[in-house]
Amino acid sequence: MKNPFEKMPTILLADEIIDKAFRRAEKAASAFTPRGNIVSKARQREELRIRTVSNVIRDNLRKVLNRTPGVSTLPSFYQELLDTLVDKRMFHKALASINWAVKTIRTLEERYVEKVRYSRDPKEIARLRREFYGRVASILKDINDNLEYLNKARDVLKDMPVIDLDLPTIVIAGHPNVGKSTLLRRLTNAKPEIATYPFTTKGINVGQFEEHWLRYQVIDTPGLLDRPLSERNEIERQAILALKHLGKLIIYIFDPSEYCGYPIEEQMHLFEEVYREFGGFPFIVVLNKTDIANEDKIREVEEFLRERGVESLRIAAEKGLGIEELKKRVIKIIKPEMEAIVHNMGRIEGE
Ligand code: GDP
Repeated sequence: MKNPFEKMPTILLADEIIDKAFRRAEKAASAFTPRGNIVSKARQREELRIRTVSNVIRDNLRKVLNRTPGVSTLPSFYQELLDTLVDKRMFHKALASINWAVKTIRTLEERYVEKVRYSRDPKEIARLRREFYGRVASILKDINDNLEYLNKARDVLKDMPVIDLDLPTIVIAGHPNVGKSTLLRRLTNAKPEIATYPFTTKGINVGQFEEHWLRYQVIDTPGLLDRPLSERNEIERQAILALKHLGKLIIYIFDPSEYCGYPIEEQMHLFEEVYREFGGFPFIVVLNKTDIANEDKIREVEEFLRERGVESLRIAAEKGLGIEELKKRVIKIIKPEMEAIVHNMGRIEGE
């Protein structure tokens, strides 16, 4: 799946739309040669102006509506992200106000065309058309805040991470510098896509790998799962919720060498928090940098994990040690689940 906001167009503001529509109406009117008596000519010309202004404005607004996915149609991962980034309710309200404007302008168009057709006075006909212009302009001014809001939202949303929601996803967690991105590179295609992720300054790392004809996705969200929960703000909490919708498995990394700058006790503390936060998720815990770590420290972490009933695996991501074994464990956990899903889908289709 692609970023659902990829096709969202740049959004013109009220003044720009009004200018464009009035200009187009003048052009159309000057290119048009009405026939008949003076009243009939006035009617035709003003009707053309009214229709053109209405069409240009509604086309512009409808384009925004058509190319922006409705909030409720989005997969829950993107709904959470949307809320995190731009506030789901505001976004919905802005789209609803555009929809309202489209309908109202259409109604006014019909009403004013009717009035123009029934009027017998060229001056009155011109006045009606000006009145229509005025009302339409004021409708657009009414929704201008919403247009501005959507434009800002678009700038954020079109940079949302391109994450394939259909792939089984593995989330990497652990303190900064423990080796998350090194491991991600080792596990996946050499050059993971680094998508920008507006609530972390560092971007989200996404990579994929294929094994036994199944594709897996690995993501690393710097700044998100690498600090104690109490330090997180509301936005980050929501982003974590988004991860819960997406992830199938957590790979948690310890750095027993402590070269990352976090003493082992602190790493244990964070692990307990993430473990609790993602209760019910399968975890694979790896001890990284075993090429330089002190054996006593490694054993200390292993003991800590064993007491909690958690198996761990020694790796050295930079040298590629233990990676094959890690992949095997990942697949052992995820594959049965994926097969069950595929199997169930087959049953549903076969019914
Ligand atoms: P992240 O912040 O968790 O993504 O950590 P990085 O992947 O950027 O790694 C932090 C530092 O640790 C980098 O300088 C890596 O080269 C180094 N590093 C990662 N894995 C290993 C390893 O297995 N052994 C050693 N000695 N260094 C490693």
